[in-house]
Amino acid sequence: MIVILNNKASDKQIDDVIKYLEDYGFQIHKSVGVERTILGAIGVKPNFDIRKIKILDGVADVYRITAPYKLANRSFNEDGTKINIKDVEIGNDQLVLMVGPCSIESEKQIFTLAEVVAKSGAKILRGGAFKPRSSPYSFQGMGEEGLKLIRAAADEYNLLVITEVMQIDHIDLIHKYTDIYQVGARNMQNFSLLKELGKTDKPVMLKRGLSALIEEWLMSAEYILAGGNKNVMLCERGIRTFEKYTRNTFDLSAIPIVHKKSHLPVIADPSHATGLRDQVPPMARAAVAAGADGLMIEIHNDPENAFSDGPQALLPDTYLSLIQELKLIANAIGREI
Ligand code: PEP
Ligand code: MN
Repeated sequence: MIVILNNKASDKQIDDVIKYLEDYGFQIHKSVGVERTILGAIGVKPNFDIRKIKILDGVADVYRITAPYKLANRSFNEDGTKINIKDVEIGNDQLVLMVGPCSIESEKQIFTLAEVVAKSGAKILRGGAFKPRSSPYSFQGMGEEGLKLIRAAADEYNLLVITEVMQIDHIDLIHKYTDIYQVGARNMQNFSLLKELGKTDKPVMLKRGLSALIEEWLMSAEYILAGGNKNVMLCERGIRTFEKYTRNTFDLSAIPIVHKKSHLPVIADPSHATGLRDQVPPMARAAVAAGADGLMIEIHNDPENAFSDGPQALLPDTYLSLIQELKLIANAIGREI
């Protein structure tokens, strides 16, 4: 931690700050400049609240130099985490595609879309059976019936399943049907859910919260990792800003930043990030170029009548031609789709 003293700080105030830090077990390196004194406080204390120092007399500013997340930190696994599920590996040069409808709606719908997903070469079928909706009057998902359908459709086309878990008492039920648990943006800081997912043996994809800092997102991943589950991936799905022309603002820069700060794979979701069908292809192309380890894309064969998120769903043909473009972009940066 770096402590910058006020340029008018008295010798007594500086000594008091040093004594305070030493009492907490920090080793102090003091450097006296022409204008002000700077203290380097050495010691790894992830839980130390730096506001304790900020409020001391004579202190101008305080900066933390070590990240509060340890297990999610890049330095914990310099080579990057690889997640293996059956014959799919996530986090290598081969990008992973997670594609399907927002909600599982019927047997016909999920089988039709699973066929499109398989045809594109994607390996993972997405679809929600428990939906986090802003309105209690909107479609809430098919529940276990939907889980059965998505599992059957995935098995038919040799695909893996990713589906959202919203609450602790659904973890065991969903475990029977899914290959990957998705934690939605609205649950990113549901710490009790994250702790329980830390105990499961299936991978978890943690979406970024609607207004979460990257550091908060990584701290949430830390909860799952600390519980013992090493198979965690992150998903950038756009954040809430003042912009109204898109549903969310796609924070593309989060992709290279997370890669620098963490060893966890990053999936990009241009569907929720933009919320508008015509914005999805350009942002999908950008996400591949930015180095995403995979994409989550919503598709629908009848988006006009979709139960949720129809306006952001790609039609199968648009999706299939997008994949051809994405292959070229991936190749250009030494990766494959
Ligand atoms: C979804 O994937 O359908 C979903 C609800 O996503 P998010 O949590 O990112 O809003
Ligand atoms: Mn959706």
